[in-house]
Amino acid sequence: MARDFLKDARDHYDVIIIGSGLAGLTSANILARAGHSVLLLEHHYQLGGMATWFKRSGGHIFDISLHGFPVGMIKSCRKYWTQEIADSIVQLKGIRFENPQFSLTTTFNRDDFTRLLIEKFDIAPETVKGFFDTARKMNFFDDQTKTTRELFEEFFPGRDDVVRLLMEPITYANGSTLEDPALTYGIVFSNFMSKGVFTFQGGTDHLVNQMKAEMQANGVDLRIRCLVEKIEVSPDRKVTGVVVNGRRIGCSALVSNANIKSTILKLVGEEHFDRSYVEETKAVRLNNSSCQVYIALKPGVGFEPCGDLLFHSEHRGFDVDAMLSRDVSSRTFSFYYPETRPGSDRYMIVSSTNANYKDWADLSDEEYDASKRDLCETTLDCLEQYVPGIRDKAVHIEASTPRTFEHYTRHLQGASFGTKFEGLKVSKELPEQIGGLYHAGSVGIIMSGWLGAVNYGVIISNEVDKYLTPAMT
Ligand SMILES: Cc1cc2nc3c(=O)[nH]c(=O)nc-3n(C[C@H](O)[C@H](O)[C@H](O)COP(=O)(O)OP(=O)(O)OC[C@H]3O[C@@H](n4cnc5c(N)ncnc54)[C@H](O)[C@@H]3O)c2cc1C
Repeated sequence: MARDFLKDARDHYDVIIIGSGLAGLTSANILARAGHSVLLLEHHYQLGGMATWFKRSGGHIFDISLHGFPVGMIKSCRKYWTQEIADSIVQLKGIRFENPQFSLTTTFNRDDFTRLLIEKFDIAPETVKGFFDTARKMNFFDDQTKTTRELFEEFFPGRDDVVRLLMEPITYANGSTLEDPALTYGIVFSNFMSKGVFTFQGGTDHLVNQMKAEMQANGVDLRIRCLVEKIEVSPDRKVTGVVVNGRRIGCSALVSNANIKSTILKLVGEEHFDRSYVEETKAVRLNNSSCQVYIALKPGVGFEPCGDLLFHSEHRGFDVDAMLSRDVSSRTFSFYYPETRPGSDRYMIVSSTNANYKDWADLSDEEYDASKRDLCETTLDCLEQYVPGIRDKAVHIEASTPRTFEHYTRHLQGASFGTKFEGLKVSKELPEQIGGLYHAGSVGIIMSGWLGAVNYGVIISNEVDKYLTPAMT
């Protein structure tokens, strides 16, 4: 008999959370801590969404999205998770750029970037200060029509080397381009510049297992392998429950951590919304996806320190189309040393490239396998210059593509970073359309990435708490 992954689940909860990405997990934890009964439903066999990991025989553990996040994670984890989780967050100090225009290593914070821009790129100190101050002051309520391209033109006209330094890591971090609103750039860039790039020591498995323990201690009912097929709405437009694995479970409020477009158009259904809202939802553009190549070195075999994050490119200037192309010319390498997982003797390398879903979606099985093999081979060729002898040192190599992300996270087109900016408005207005229905998860560029997702989970759980509290008294 098939196992019942909803065994002993109640028929009604105060809140149901669909999806265990960082936003879903954080909302679940906060709402359970506030005394609400919470059911968390995840279709995958593992929690974490994109913040996840996989194991391969030989004792290899690969992190999917643990490349770097801003310092704000420490405060958010301390406040909304545990001190222990916050204490495992450590800085990555070797951020490296290698491209036809420059070669440098930086701690990726304001002081070091100021030094580099003045000394290496010959920019006037007052221009650098003006740029940083402008970026720092940007917020959600600013002019949304000014693009990142216009922001750079204002401060660094004609300097595609400077644009590359300032933009390449952010494109990598959230898929944004020069045509996206400048405020999205300003907010994310300034978050990183405040103190640099951070990681979670112990690996994503350690983080998510600690989060799981904390949620269980707070009473969250956690269920994996539970695919929500439908969100149920009453005729007077209030959320009433879900259908999950063929069973109906009721709720007073619901937070969807699934992609915003699938939440509205697939899980609820457009007939339950205002026409104009449906049109707005349909017009939301998804963010791009990505490919990764995972390389494990033989146990105990390592490499000389070559940085933590390396932005490699063979292309001149900053060119998003080239970054997304299947004809790869830009790669970001994450080098993982044994300290990543204290007690381990393993060195791992993950190469990431932003990618277009359409380039991978329609390949036949043979073409798909051949393209993945080619990606692995060209990545090893490229890596040889940083890790000599990599082919002899490597013991396991495999690739993931936009199709992999679509399969595991159910994000439309495998979008790695949710949607473009307009998705945020649609996400925020969801409860105005259907009472008790909320969305928390990568959306609108600024609410994506580990920090964006956690913080959006915090914001939304506070709104859900307010919605539920009068009903409880
Ligand atoms: C390759 C890659 C590298 C990245 N690197 C970084 C990085 O270095 N730093 C950084 O800050 N960010 C990084 N990111 C982005 C970051 O991982 C994500 O923005 C963040 O983890 C997303 O969290 P989320 O809450 O939006 O949920 P997601 O991670 O998108 O999870 C959503 C969850 O909902 C579940 N779900 C969806 N539909 C259903 C359904 N119908 N029923 C049940 N469950 C459902 C999915 O299975 C999934 O678990 C990376 C992303 C990728 C893909």
